[in-house]
Amino acid sequence: MAKRDYYDVLGVGKSASPDELKSAYRKLAVKYHPDKNPGDKAAEDKFKEASEAYGILSDKSKKENYDNFGHAAFENGGGGRGFGGFGGFSGSDFSDIFEDFFGDFGGGGRRNSKRNSNNRGSDLRYDLTISLEEAYTGKKQNIQFSTTEKCNTCKGNGSKPGYTADRCTYCGGNGRVRSNQGFFTVQQTCPQCSGSGEEITNPCNDCNGQGNKQAPKKISVTIPKGVDDGTRIRLAGKGEAGTRGGASGDLYLFINIETHQLFKRSDVNLFFEFPISIADAALGTSVEIPTIDGGKAKIKIPDGTQNGKQFRLKGKGMPFMRRGDFGDLYVQVKTEVPVSLNKEQKNLLEKFREIENERSNPSIKKFFQKAKSFWKN
Ligand SMILES: [Zn+2]
Ligand SMILES: [Zn+2]
Repeated sequence: MAKRDYYDVLGVGKSASPDELKSAYRKLAVKYHPDKNPGDKAAEDKFKEASEAYGILSDKSKKENYDNFGHAAFENGGGGRGFGGFGGFSGSDFSDIFEDFFGDFGGGGRRNSKRNSNNRGSDLRYDLTISLEEAYTGKKQNIQFSTTEKCNTCKGNGSKPGYTADRCTYCGGNGRVRSNQGFFTVQQTCPQCSGSGEEITNPCNDCNGQGNKQAPKKISVTIPKGVDDGTRIRLAGKGEAGTRGGASGDLYLFINIETHQLFKRSDVNLFFEFPISIADAALGTSVEIPTIDGGKAKIKIPDGTQNGKQFRLKGKGMPFMRRGDFGDLYVQVKTEVPVSLNKEQKNLLEKFREIENERSNPSIKKFFQKAKSFWKN
């Protein structure tokens, strides 16, 4: 769709004075303001179009560019033609125009994002400790906490049913106040109404005019498979309720994972030390080892397995979050030298010592070769 001429949009001639532009925009802005036309997409578009036109024509150098080059002057300005992002116009420039205008109107039911951000509810943190097995399978968990919720009696607006809030007397309903500091005019959130622009004169009895009440809340959350110690899960909008129309905050779930009696975890891999006897290490054997899913896996210990030897079991580790695959399980052999031998065991080992030779103990042989040459030199 072709972009309309900015002067046509505002319904003024090319020679219109700044005052004429301002008053033309003001008329359109009042007529098409989204608060006055809730849900009316056509009005919203008209409002945006007029705001964009005024944004350009009210700026001396941008107006000059527009007069010379038309819309082409702003086509590469970045941000395209979106609201607040047009023609090299940053959002903050735009909201200043907004402030200028709506300051004059005295607020009324205006809601822009700036104002609502002041009323946004707080984020909450909830620490949840789960077992490694639960992190493996994922789980549904009910959590209960105390938070603020919208007051049912006043539907969150803070006034007694049948009453409405008055305009804040301090800021005239603007939500912001200006003060002069040297050369600069600084805008600040109104200290009286915290930016809401309203003053509750007949406070709701149930919430003392806050619009919110402290209440216990119970929600069910899904802990995804593969969460790790320190994983943070954001539950959008599950934090404290906003005040008077503000958005709710978020709930952040901080996951702690209990230390496991068998498995150590590193990212998606699991690890444990597996003790075997020297006879098993020397002769070889087949063993069953535990896996995190509660089952067993078989591993073959070949004859002559040395202390510290690691076996890798592919896919027997933890699941990757939001993926179908798994990490690995590492099993490290720890040969245990037997203790508290009985008579028979001792006799057999004595006999074995007599028949041990260099072939059966290559490391020992190597060490003494090195030692001998060291003593010679
Ligand atoms: Zn209330
Ligand atoms: Zn105020």
